[in-house]
Amino acid sequence: MFRIGIDLGGTKTEGIVMDATGKILARERRPTPQADGYHAILACVRDLVLELERRASASCHVGLGTPGAISTKTGFLKNSNTVCLNGRPVKQDLEQLLAREIRIANDANCFALSEALDGAAQSEPVVFGVILGTGVGGGIVVNGQLLEGAQHIAGEWGHNVLEPDGPLCYCGKRGCVETFLSGPGLARDFAALGGDAALDARAIALTAKQGNVLAEAAMQHYLDRFGRALSVVINILDPDAIVLGGGMSNITRLYTQGREQVARHTFNDELRTRILPNRHGDSSGVRGAAQLWPV
Ligand SMILES: [Zn+2]
Repeated sequence: MFRIGIDLGGTKTEGIVMDATGKILARERRPTPQADGYHAILACVRDLVLELERRASASCHVGLGTPGAISTKTGFLKNSNTVCLNGRPVKQDLEQLLAREIRIANDANCFALSEALDGAAQSEPVVFGVILGTGVGGGIVVNGQLLEGAQHIAGEWGHNVLEPDGPLCYCGKRGCVETFLSGPGLARDFAALGGDAALDARAIALTAKQGNVLAEAAMQHYLDRFGRALSVVINILDPDAIVLGGGMSNITRLYTQGREQVARHTFNDELRTRILPNRHGDSSGVRGAAQLWPV
């Protein structure tokens, strides 16, 4: 049976149809009607599914990836940055609209699943998938199975406290990993050092490469924090591979100097864990959502 994967994001909703070999047969993308509220967003997902099925000329399994998680207590979505979805029975309502069972997972979990099953970490037993973008998230896959955890937060290292007196995070704590390792986190640190506040993370990484002293200082902070934050995860999970995704994963120094910092802080005399760039790029979210269903 073909599988549909939907990536429901804050600004866009994207869907694919995938065949048994992992080939993408059709792809559709629409703006998420966030301003129109909960029911408009559900209708958007339904229409996308029906359009993809029409193009595939087949009825399909549906998997959906989205920020946040389904509460194991209430069954409602929580922690989504599309706030009108929070506290709503998204899974049940979509199942009713589509008249079938659907599977839902956190978007970082979908990324991890995609990269573990047929991406950069294919055939690695324990995989930690990391999103370094406007936010910082993560997902864990063990022997091809997503590990969701007792409260569906497994892999959420972005809200481990790295520096208790650090910047306030939207989650209510201070100095979370996300406040430093997200793109906006790097930009804020660069501005705090006296750098141009208009530069985004990509520009800062580039000017550092060109010899800008302040940008290089911000990058050194970033690499040190990357090492300290990831070593905490490695000491607990000891993954075979860590796959990086999100906009910051394009910074090539993460795989060399960043890796050295991780090794420095890990409780072992050598670092055997592979740290890899993702294979599927922006498609990993929709691919992983489809792969919530077995072939
Ligand atoms: Zn936080």
